[in-house]
Amino acid sequence: RGHPNSIYARDVEYVLHPVTNARKHEEIGPIVIDRGEGIYVYDDLGNRYIEALAGLWSVAVGFGEKRLVEAASRQMSKLPYYHTFSHKTNEPSVELAERLVKMTPARLRRAFFTNSGSEANDSVIKMVWYYNNARGLRQKKKFISRTNAYHGITIASGSLTGLPANQRDFDLPFVPVRHVTCPHYYRFAEPGETEEAFADRLAAELEATILEEGPDTVAAFIGEPLMGAGGVLPPPATYWEKIQAVCRRHDVLIVADEVINGFGRLGTMFACDYYGIDSDIMVLSKQITSSYQPLAAVMISHELYEGIADNSGKIGTFGHGFTASGHPVPAAVALENLDIIEEKNLVENARRVGEVMQDELRKLADHPLVGEVRGVGLIAGVELVADKATKAKFNPVGKVGAQVFSRAHEHGLIIRAIGDTIAFCPPLIITEDQVRDMVERFRVTLDETAAMVRETEVAAL
Ligand code: PMP
Repeated sequence: RGHPNSIYARDVEYVLHPVTNARKHEEIGPIVIDRGEGIYVYDDLGNRYIEALAGLWSVAVGFGEKRLVEAASRQMSKLPYYHTFSHKTNEPSVELAERLVKMTPARLRRAFFTNSGSEANDSVIKMVWYYNNARGLRQKKKFISRTNAYHGITIASGSLTGLPANQRDFDLPFVPVRHVTCPHYYRFAEPGETEEAFADRLAAELEATILEEGPDTVAAFIGEPLMGAGGVLPPPATYWEKIQAVCRRHDVLIVADEVINGFGRLGTMFACDYYGIDSDIMVLSKQITSSYQPLAAVMISHELYEGIADNSGKIGTFGHGFTASGHPVPAAVALENLDIIEEKNLVENARRVGEVMQDELRKLADHPLVGEVRGVGLIAGVELVADKATKAKFNPVGKVGAQVFSRAHEHGLIIRAIGDTIAFCPPLIITEDQVRDMVERFRVTLDETAAMVRETEVAAL
């Protein structure tokens, strides 16, 4: 398997790949990732890559971590599966729930487990509806999300998502949702507008939207503290304080989607700690098991739990759960993974090495292709532009990003191109030297791409 002269394998294969141009894929084929070690993955031809996106923003403790393999194996031998339905449970899921309740902000008191972030956000919608029904607020159903947001791809979570490719030709949104402007200061601030004024404007937009819909119909606001797949967007410092004040004024619940941010990414255990967010619901996944096993958790407040419990008491059951909700194997892996994060001080590592990554990437700010470098801790975005002065985008959007993405493979680097924004989110175990190596590979990739862009411009003259 695999093409002898190419990092792309060209054999016929049978997978419909997600988030891929299917026709282009037929032409170039996939890279077959074969194994991983630390921050590196290897393809089936033996090429080594720095996994600068930790898989899909997922792997905290690195690839090839034997302790997670052993934790899964131990649990598989003891009890390979049991559910959490009908007054049954299993030890790892209870222990994990207890641990998450202790780790997360004090208001969050119960955990509900799912297999994926999308299912978790679907569950959030249903739990909020169920809770509001219990309060006699059957009209209070609408969600407010943001443009560029990513919260999943199922019919409901995909409705919260605000990215055209995930919605347009799927006829979404399908649940009642309004999307307000995302906190993308570089793109959406007006000329001369301060970050503070920008945050005020976005909070005012949120309030106007709630009032327009009617506060008695708006159930919740959902947002990633720092938006990841939407282009790596750290909000202005006072954004969350202002958003929370608006939500509280109108009895609108706050849902913090920490699927990417959670477990140390920003240099704090949760991004809610970093931004001072006091959410009613927190959604966790990805780094919870370093993605060695699929798992997500919805953390809910005491009030929400009480409302849900009251309602289920009335009708006899809380009719929501997945076959693998509270599956003991991912729960056991999560417990071991959290031990590793704590023992190796990976949150502190993300803060310390994250500063180096941010500094090194910001040295590229003068590069002719770079419009803005942004990020916190070990997550960063580098937005590429056609014209630094006017911030003009490339035409078509995403073409240069795709070039950088492909070329980076040739320099042993896997990154993510979100349109023309290049995203970095390496495993939390990355060292300073490895960060420098990663950024150097990226710089060379950018230089080559700039030369190619110039050639194309000259050819077009
Ligand atoms: N929320 C956020 C912020 C995400 O980044 C993702 C996945 N990238 C999801 C939800 C959905 O998670 P999953 O892919 O596990 O369904």
